[in-house]
Amino acid sequence: MLTCERFEAQLDDHVSGEMGIGAKLSFALHWLMCRACRISLATYHATVTLTRNAFDDDDDPPR
Ligand SMILES: [Zn+2]
Repeated sequence: MLTCERFEAQLDDHVSGEMGIGAKLSFALHWLMCRACRISLATYHATVTLTRNAFDDDDDPPR
């Protein structure tokens, strides 16, 4: 199983969608079993969203 360190290292790939199916599966499995990493993924998502909103022009089409 994925360690918490590996999970955190893959957060970036997960958010940008650059993960293979195998990596996705072990990522999801760790996410299900590890509360700490569920929280850190939620925090990471919130940070990415906030950062994007801060830098995006209002005229940009939605992704
Ligand atoms: Zn973990």
